Amino acid sequence: MAISFKWPILGVIVPSILIGMIGYGSHYFVFTSHLNSRDQLWFEFYLSMVWISYIIAIFKQPGSPPHGFQPNQGEWRRWCKKCKNYKPERSHHCKSCKKCVLQMDHHCPWTMNCVGHDNIAHFLRFLLWVIWTTGYVMIQLSKRAIQYYEESNLPAYLINKSEMIAVIFLLPIDFFVFATIVVLFIRCVINFFFKGMTQIEVWESERIEGQIHTERFWNQIKRNYFRLHNKELPRLTSWRNENERTNYDENDEDKDTSSTNNDINENSSVPEEFTFDDLIFPYDLGIWNNIVSNCGSPWKWILPWGGTNSSGYKFEKSGEFIEDDQLGLPWPPDGGHQENGDGGEINRGDIELQNMRRPNYRLLKKRLDPRSTMKRTEWMNDLGETLDDLGVDIDAEDTDNEELIVVGGNSNNDNDNNSAHNTTA
Ligand SMILES: [Zn+2]
Ligand SMILES: [Zn+2]
Repeated sequence: MAISFKWPILGVIVPSILIGMIGYGSHYFVFTSHLNSRDQLWFEFYLSMVWISYIIAIFKQPGSPPHGFQPNQGEWRRWCKKCKNYKPERSHHCKSCKKCVLQMDHHCPWTMNCVGHDNIAHFLRFLLWVIWTTGYVMIQLSKRAIQYYEESNLPAYLINKSEMIAVIFLLPIDFFVFATIVVLFIRCVINFFFKGMTQIEVWESERIEGQIHTERFWNQIKRNYFRLHNKELPRLTSWRNENERTNYDENDEDKDTSSTNNDINENSSVPEEFTFDDLIFPYDLGIWNNIVSNCGSPWKWILPWGGTNSSGYKFEKSGEFIEDDQLGLPWPPDGGHQENGDGGEINRGDIELQNMRRPNYRLLKKRLDPRSTMKRTEWMNDLGETLDDLGVDIDAEDTDNEELIVVGGNSNNDNDNNSAHNTTA
């Protein structure tokens, strides 16, 4: 998926050539003699909508935080070194656009633009018009191809050769574009509408899933918890709790020693009974609300200029996330990156594997995955995508001067870091 061009302008020249070739080629060589003028007019309308939505997807900006932005209550205070500005939740600095992008999904080389908060609807609409138009072309050209097959016993002089060459040449190209865009569109719909996530958040979520069993992850949670609440992370038994409060033992003496997990290393930071499913992603509001928050009211969906009404600085959190304690940590709970200092990751694996009566192969596979010990800046998903491949400028993230402090938290460092940045801003 990670594509970058030596000359970025190629990213829009190649699709433009494809749109022109498929659209006008099919019309000139095939549709003029096989569609009535009304259908030809409709086809030109579809093609125009592809061009219009493409131009809007190229030029409509994804949105950036205003200078002097101050984070909202209860979110990570993240500093962008390049914009010298605080980043709102869900935003990242794009290395190609050279600015912070609100609710950044990814940098798209085919539009030379980021897909983000203000233009997600425009990007999706472009994909939809391409699917509709290439689908229409595919049906019409396939009809011609079937007819050639049925008339294969006709003498050669009765067959329009230029039309036949156009069908043979354009049909596979059209199918390739159609299939590629359908796959991309389905990926976007699953992420935006079903999960309420951007592509970067899906990536982040997969990273957490791959690292949640490690000491590194839980040491970071411990540090974040201490910064926020100014006390040690209690012994967790389970994160999720049906009784509104997170389930943990404030008092270690009361801990249940008859636990079946008596083979766990006592020095480990990793909670005994804790799975990735206990983490709640805060911005998933349910399918309908996810669509409306990204694309605006239903009557605007088809309009070329329709889009979201929200600011992109502050996002509604799901009721489930608010009700569950989640240790009072905003998402992602490890703050989106790991501090230095505990790089020598030791899985509690060795001791545990020896004691494992019935090996859990899924867990075993996770632990043996070399990515479980990788830093966030190096981690890649199953498709081999790193954060850099999605367009994020890792150098703009302020990992040296820890700024992962929740606004309104009890951290001692809060004022220090704030004043340090006020002087540099
Ligand atoms: Zn920035
Ligand atoms: Zn970008």
